[in-house]
Amino acid sequence: MKVTQQQAPITSLWDDKAAAAMSEPELLLYRSNLLGSDLRITNFGGGNTSAKVMMADPLSGEQVEVLWVKGSGGDLGSIKLDGFSTLYMDKLNALKSRYRGLALEDEMVAYLPHCTFNLNPRAASIDTPLHAYIDRKHVDHMHPDAVIAIAACAGSQALTQKIFEGELGWLPWQRPGYDLGLKLEQVSKAQPNLKGIILEGHGLFTWGDTAKSCYETTLAIIKRAEEWLAANSKQPSFGGQAIEPLPSEERSALAAKLMPLLRGKISRDEYKLGHFDDSAAVLEFVCSRDLQPLAALGTSCPDHFLRTKIRPFVIDFDPLKPDFDKLVAGLDQALEEYRAGYVAYYERCKHDNSPAVRDANPIIYLIPGVGMLSFAKDKATARIAGEFYVNAINVMRGANGVDTYVGLPEQEAFDIEYWLLEEAKLQRMPKPKSLAGRIALVTGGAGGIGQAVAKQLLQEGACVMLTDIDPEALSQAHADLAKSAGKDSVGSIVANITSEAEVESVLQAASLRFGGVDLLISNAGIASSAPLEDTTLEIWQRNQDILVTGYFLASRAAFRIMKQQGLGGSMVFVASKNGLVASAGASAYCTAKAAEIHLARCIALEGAPHGIRVNVVNPDAVIRGSRIWDGKWKQERAQSNKIEADDVEKFYRDRSMLKLSVLPEDIAEAVYFLASDKAGKSTGNILNVDAGNAGAFTR
Ligand code: NAD
Repeated sequence: MKVTQQQAPITSLWDDKAAAAMSEPELLLYRSNLLGSDLRITNFGGGNTSAKVMMADPLSGEQVEVLWVKGSGGDLGSIKLDGFSTLYMDKLNALKSRYRGLALEDEMVAYLPHCTFNLNPRAASIDTPLHAYIDRKHVDHMHPDAVIAIAACAGSQALTQKIFEGELGWLPWQRPGYDLGLKLEQVSKAQPNLKGIILEGHGLFTWGDTAKSCYETTLAIIKRAEEWLAANSKQPSFGGQAIEPLPSEERSALAAKLMPLLRGKISRDEYKLGHFDDSAAVLEFVCSRDLQPLAALGTSCPDHFLRTKIRPFVIDFDPLKPDFDKLVAGLDQALEEYRAGYVAYYERCKHDNSPAVRDANPIIYLIPGVGMLSFAKDKATARIAGEFYVNAINVMRGANGVDTYVGLPEQEAFDIEYWLLEEAKLQRMPKPKSLAGRIALVTGGAGGIGQAVAKQLLQEGACVMLTDIDPEALSQAHADLAKSAGKDSVGSIVANITSEAEVESVLQAASLRFGGVDLLISNAGIASSAPLEDTTLEIWQRNQDILVTGYFLASRAAFRIMKQQGLGGSMVFVASKNGLVASAGASAYCTAKAAEIHLARCIALEGAPHGIRVNVVNPDAVIRGSRIWDGKWKQERAQSNKIEADDVEKFYRDRSMLKLSVLPEDIAEAVYFLASDKAGKSTGNILNVDAGNAGAFTR
C-alpha cells in the first residue's frame, strides 16, 4: 500500500536483522522496495536505484564489477530482482571513448545491450549512465515532491545551498541522458564530500558507500526539504481560497454526470477511462485564487508531464452559481481550443525527425469547487496520471511558498515528450486487448454466470462494474476478480435490480468509477418452479420484477448513458432456453424469460441508430457454479424429472443433443462474442448455449 502525502513524518524502516543475511543485490532490492512504497519519496514508476557489486564473471570466473540498476519500466515499490538490469562496469566505462557529443547522445543507448552481464534480458533504462558514472557504490534517484519543489524554484541553486548547507550539489536542467551521466561523474569526483545532487526542474540523486547509508541519506535529505518548506512557506498557498468547494455528494454527482459526456468527446480515436479525485490537496488547488495562472504554467518534472501532458484543462464552472447545462454547452469549443493549442505547441517545437503528433485531448481536467478528472487509455494509467498531477500540485505549493515556481521551458518539454527514445518505448508496448478501454456493467455479478462473464471480459481488457443484491457474495466476487485482474479494473456496488433508484445509483457509480458504460450484461436472475395452480401472485410478480422490470431498468439507464457518450454500445441479456421453449411447471419463469428476450429485440430496434447493439444468450442447465442450482430449484427440477438431486447434471447432459454439460465459462464465451466488436454487425440476435436442444432452434 502506498503511503500518501498526509501521513506521519518520514522515518527509516531499515531492519538490521532482516538485512543481515542479504547479498548486495538483495540489499538493493530491499532498499528499493522500502523507498518505492512511500509516495512522498518517489512517485509511481518514478525514480531508480543502483548498486555496483563485485561478482564472478560467468565466462572467466574472475571477479568483475557489475552495475545493478532498475531496468526500463516497473515500479520501485513492487520491483523484484528480475526488474534490475546488470551491466559490466568496465564496458560501461569503455563506452566513454565512443561518445561523440551532446547532439548525438541518443546513439549511446544502443550500446547499452552490449554491456549486459550474464545475458540478463531486462532492458537497461535511459537513466543507466546517470547511475554508472556517479563515483559511488550505491545511488538513489528519487522524485520527492518536497525536493522537486526546491528544484522547480526560480532561485533553485541558491536555495539548495541555503537548505542543505553544501551537502548537496546542483546542476542546471538537462534532459536525462548520456551527457548528464558524465556531468554527474564530474561533480561526484570533484566534490567527494557531497551526499548527493539536485537536478534543476527534475529531482534528486543521493549516494552512499553502503545500501543502508544510501537509503538513510535519501530519507534525511527529503525530510530536511519537507521540514524546511513547512517552516518557511508563506501562507495561504496558491494565493488563498477563492471559493468554497461544493459539498461532497454534489461533487461526486456532478463528476458522475459529466464523465460520460466528456468521455464521449475525447474517445473518438481511442476509448478512454476516467478517474475522479476530490482529495484535500486537489480541492485546495481547484478552489484557489491562483488556479488559472498556475495551471497555465504547466508541470516541471519530466515524469509529471509525460503522464499529465504539459498543461491541464480547466473547466469553466462556477460552483457559486452551479449551472451544469452551461458547463456542457461550453465544452466542445473549449476542448477544441485545447486541442488546437496542443497541435500548435507540436508545430512550434517539432524537429524534422519528430514522431507524428499524438492524441491532442487533455489528460487532466480541473473543475473549480469540484475536483479533478483524469482520462487515459486504461484505468490504472488514468489513476496514476491523477496522482502525478497531485505531485505537481504539491510541487507548485512548495515552490510558490518559498520562491517562484517555474515550469519547464516548452521546447524542453517537447523534446522529452517526443523524444525518439520515448517513442521507441511506446512502439514496444503490446497491442491493446480486444476490449481495452471498455466499461462493462454485469448485473448478478456475484453469481456463477456473472462471475465467469466478468472474468472473461476482464481478461479481454475491459473494466468491470459488478452489481448484485447479495453483499457478501458480491464482496467475495469483487475480491477474487481483483486478485487476478488487478484492483484498478474492478468495481462493485450492492443494488436491487428491481429498484429504479438503486439502478440509477449503479450507473452513477460506474460513471464515477470508470467514466461511463459501454457494455451491459444483464444477468441478475432467479429461477422458480411451480404448477400453474400453485403459482402464487407473489411468485409471478417476483419473476416479473427481477427478470423483466429489472432488465428494463438496467437497460434504460445504460441506454441513456450510452447515448450521451455517443460511442455506441452493446447489451447482452442472459435469458434462458425457457424463454423460447415452454416448460411445464415453470410458467412464471418461462413467461418472464420470454418477455426478457422480446425486450432485448425492442431495444435493438431503438438502439441501432445510435450504434447500440442488443443480443441475447440463452443458457440451459448450467449447474456447476450457479447459485440458482444450489437452492430449491435443484430439488424441484429433480422431483419434477423423477430423479435424485445428485443426478441432475448427468440428467441434463444426457438430455442434450451433444451430450455435454454446459458450464458458466461457455456462457461467458458467448456473452463476450456478442459484447465485443467481433459481433459488431449483429443485433437483435439470440445465441443458444445449451449443448443442443431442438425445441430451442430459432426460426
Ligand atoms: P446465480 O444465482 O448464481 O446468479 C444470479 C445472481 O443474481 C445472484 O448472485 C443473485 O444474488 C443475483 N440477483 C438475484 N436477484 C437480484 C436482484 N433483485 N437484484 C440484483 N441481483 C439479484 O445464477 P446463474 O446461474 O449465474 O444465473 C444467471 C442468469 O442466467 C440468470 O438470469 C438465470 O435466469 C440465467 N439462466 C441460468 C441457467 C442455469 O442453468 N444456471 C439457465 C438459464 C438461464
